[in-house]
Amino acid sequence: MKCVVTGGAGFIGSHLCERLLVEGHSVLCVDNLGSGKKWNVKRLMREEGFRFLKHDIRVPFNTEVEWIFDLASRASPVDFERFPVEIAMTNSLGTFNMLELARKRGARLVFASTSEVYGDPEEHPQKESYWGHVNPNGVRSCYDESKRFAEALIFSHKRKLGTDAGVVRIFNTYGPRMRKDDGRVVPNFITQALTGRPLSVYGDGKQTRSFCYVDDLVDGLMRMMGSEETGPVNLGSPVEFGILEVAKVVQKLAGTGSKIVFGPLPKDDPVRRRPDITKAKRVLKWQPKVSLEDGLKRTMAWFREN
Ligand code: UDP
Repeated sequence: MKCVVTGGAGFIGSHLCERLLVEGHSVLCVDNLGSGKKWNVKRLMREEGFRFLKHDIRVPFNTEVEWIFDLASRASPVDFERFPVEIAMTNSLGTFNMLELARKRGARLVFASTSEVYGDPEEHPQKESYWGHVNPNGVRSCYDESKRFAEALIFSHKRKLGTDAGVVRIFNTYGPRMRKDDGRVVPNFITQALTGRPLSVYGDGKQTRSFCYVDDLVDGLMRMMGSEETGPVNLGSPVEFGILEVAKVVQKLAGTGSKIVFGPLPKDDPVRRRPDITKAKRVLKWQPKVSLEDGLKRTMAWFREN
């Protein structure tokens, strides 16, 4: 297939590009290098089926394409305060541009929505049928609400214009190539532990997340593209961990004697989060395989080397 991956030089995008090439597809990686890094796809530049286009999807572009994976958007909570307008517009105007490309070219589009559409959930675990509990104008709203709007736009486009599209809601994902200054919990803990600094747990560390290893997530994206599902479909790990527990696992694996320190909890930080993946199991025959400990080991090895 001729594929476009927006956000292809980002953390998840670059793993997806790699997988597509391995499976014999051609890839146009589109990235404005806002948070993505050319370095992430450097190795792929030599491959025949791979092209890189430095481009911002808020501006339309045209290309022959059969599969569009729309992953472009900064996704780290630290960026929500630094780049809120860019984030809101990438997920709204950018998504519209990708939908139009899909419609004109008769391509299938898979959109990377997020667990953030559930906000600070009142239902646990979160099923796709839950409408969410989101602050419409808080510091996270540029991301949460623009992803929600993107979903609304995709479903409208599909209903009205027949565009072939699917929505996945991605929960916390981690692995090699996360930015060390990304601000998220796994790269923070790993870089802190590897340099012998204290691990920064925000709040009391009792808030929970569930962490999916990037290879598993990419597998879910591929299955979604290969299906006729519109979704939304949750993609994430169903195994829930307290953040303090994660800190302790990283502490143990690094073995550098780092301590744990407690700091203030960021505003609107969800208390609990875990996907119900019954639907993904049923319609995509998908579930994650890599345990947190194994995934953290692989991620830590990469951070050590890089
Ligand atoms: N967190 C933490 N220490 C850090 C970074 C994050 O305790 O150095 C917490 C954060 O407050 C949140 C959880 O870890 O409760 C996951 O945060 P992250 O930014 O990775 O992703 P989120 O799920 O909030 O989008």
